[in-house]
Amino acid sequence: MPSVESVRMVNSGTEATMSALRLARAFTGRELLLKFKGNYHGHADSFLISAGSGAMTFGVPDSPGVTKATAKNTLMAPYNDLQAVEDLFAKTGDKIAAVIVEPVVGNMGVVLPQKGFLEGLRTITRKYGTLLIFDEVITGFRLSRGGAQQLFGITPDLTTMGKIIGGGLPVGAYGGRKEIMEKLSPTGPVYQAGTLSGNPLAMAAGLTALNILNDNPQIYKQLEQKAVKLAEGFRKNIAETNTPALVNQIGSMLTLFFNKGSQVTTFAEAAASDTEKFAEYFRLSLENGIYLAPSQFETGFISAAHTDDDIDYAIRANREALLKMKKI
Ligand SMILES: *Cc1c(COP(=O)(O)O)cnc(C)c1O
Repeated sequence: MPSVESVRMVNSGTEATMSALRLARAFTGRELLLKFKGNYHGHADSFLISAGSGAMTFGVPDSPGVTKATAKNTLMAPYNDLQAVEDLFAKTGDKIAAVIVEPVVGNMGVVLPQKGFLEGLRTITRKYGTLLIFDEVITGFRLSRGGAQQLFGITPDLTTMGKIIGGGLPVGAYGGRKEIMEKLSPTGPVYQAGTLSGNPLAMAAGLTALNILNDNPQIYKQLEQKAVKLAEGFRKNIAETNTPALVNQIGSMLTLFFNKGSQVTTFAEAAASDTEKFAEYFRLSLENGIYLAPSQFETGFISAAHTDDDIDYAIRANREALLKMKKI
């Protein structure tokens, strides 16, 4: 992770984002947070406002139990809408401690950053002295060894990580510029600690997973080739069965949206997807032995364990499911 000069291990992605936010507030001496509709950053109160993932699936993007006092410190903008961000900054930019973003969104289905969006966030935050936090809990060590920040060539101030870096055990981490991380206890005044943080079991599992990736950098190319093949197969099936659907894909991340539109680049476009159709597709896939994430607003991931035969099988099963759905 190119921007991470110093790192602090925690136990989950939620802990990572929650702690990074506290640190950003302390470092800047400001209180406001800007997040994007449909992005998910774990279940700390400040982030459960227009949240993606399960919160979006179960219709509770603004969770009960979050106080008004907390909610009013979280500003919201549509993902991929730089103008909305600029307008908010023009109004209260000098009070915004941090902008947090999934550089590639995985929690409203896969949604890619439009050209210039991430660069624009970097420029605006720098201009106003606001910290830019990349939430790479999904994209870290997945889109490339250095995550989305390496792929897009953008240097955030802080980065949050989780999922992959635990090799299956519960781990999170946050890190970034040394001068910011030094504000953390015990070298600095910002308190954060955890009984199980950095426990040897999770560290061993995570380190093993990262070492495997490090020793086999070709894995990323292979993952991408398989994902592209799957996406192209799905797109061909969609066209041939005349299904109102589209596929977003980047690296090993992929989502088939049952969506009448020509693109899914925002929360509004993702939310316009037909979740009943997705449910039908989910059940038909299961009958063919394919266990998808059970929500339109989750991402499919290609794993290094998937063979070319698996991909071919998945494309055939997709075609079969789409044909059956026509008849329903
Ligand atoms: C999963 C996720 C989180 C939360 O991580 P947990 O380990 O589930 O607490 C935070 N941010 C993103 C982008 C995630 O996908």
